Amino acid sequence: MNKEWSEKNREMQSLIGKKESFDEGIALLLELREDLFGQITSIVNTYPKEAFFQMPFAKAKGYHSKTLGYSLWHIFRIEDIVAHTLICQDSQVLYSEDWNREINSPIITTGNELKGEGIAEFSAALDVRALYDYCRSVMDSTNELLKNLQYKDLRKKFTDDDRERLIESGSVSKDEDALWLIDYWCGKDVKGLIQMPFSRHWIMHIEAMCRIKNELCRKARKGVDFIAFCGLSCNHCFLKEWCGGCRTSYNTCSYATCSPDRVCPNAACCEEKGLDGCYDCDSLAGCLTGFYSGGNDTNAVKAMAMFIRKHGKKELAAVLDNLHEKYDFQKIQEILGFDLNEGLKILEENR
Ligand code: SF4
Ligand code: SF4
Repeated sequence: MNKEWSEKNREMQSLIGKKESFDEGIALLLELREDLFGQITSIVNTYPKEAFFQMPFAKAKGYHSKTLGYSLWHIFRIEDIVAHTLICQDSQVLYSEDWNREINSPIITTGNELKGEGIAEFSAALDVRALYDYCRSVMDSTNELLKNLQYKDLRKKFTDDDRERLIESGSVSKDEDALWLIDYWCGKDVKGLIQMPFSRHWIMHIEAMCRIKNELCRKARKGVDFIAFCGLSCNHCFLKEWCGGCRTSYNTCSYATCSPDRVCPNAACCEEKGLDGCYDCDSLAGCLTGFYSGGNDTNAVKAMAMFIRKHGKKELAAVLDNLHEKYDFQKIQEILGFDLNEGLKILEENR
């Protein structure tokens, strides 16, 4: 489990368990949920539609055997049901707007009953942007619940009436892989529900989502030229686990995602000129297009393109291997600096 998240979760549990530190614990819980939701936002904002219905670990056991789309639906449907139908005894966020139609979900349940191909088919039907908006509404709504919670509420337990209300809501499938959830939730007090589903459940599923997206990126990069149009090496990039590279549909390079229509000007320019990369362009040295407009900040990357022009991609990869062996760094600027000629000199010295 992600160390930072699990430590925060442990600390939060300990803080809410004591009256004097309860408020601090709730504040930490909200902070943890915000951190975790940030991962979801990055995934939704940067991955292509098909990423949300792929099952790269379909045969595995565990949360990572599902899809990104299913994971989002499942985390927040469970939270919505528990927060509203069980704890607050009011209407779920799902019904506050026409969410099901917007999301295009064929079900209102948690999805536990779905299996194999059924999970992929369900996920392919979802409108991910609408689903993301629903997730955020559920999070905001639960955050309000958490902010209004008092220490004495933690020991609140649930009754047969609560169990009946959950059954009648139709929010949990009668399938044996789903129905157990009702007993599971009703067997806990509010403190237990803060753990599952309001914190630990998020951590487990979001970690699984990270595994899924890492694998999708790894698969997308397989067999694809590891040198980006601008001269960066995807094999040496610190974003590797997030990005399939700009020669694939899993391009999450921050420069591309911030560009109009998410198209990197360097990639577009190369394609327009019919070039493999900027390193093949006669205008490279003086070019200020796209990523190169960063000037000093991106001279290190231009230095790599110039190095490829002279020595080729394999030689650049060998030099980058050397540099990574010698130094602990993330961005190439940390080693090549901000001056074009100085950067080139360092690359030459490390051949
Ligand atoms: S700046 Fe453009 S060319 Fe360079 S890695 Fe990012 S998307 Fe690819
Ligand atoms: S003009 Fe600039 S961005 Fe376009 S291919 Fe040449 S070096 Fe790359």
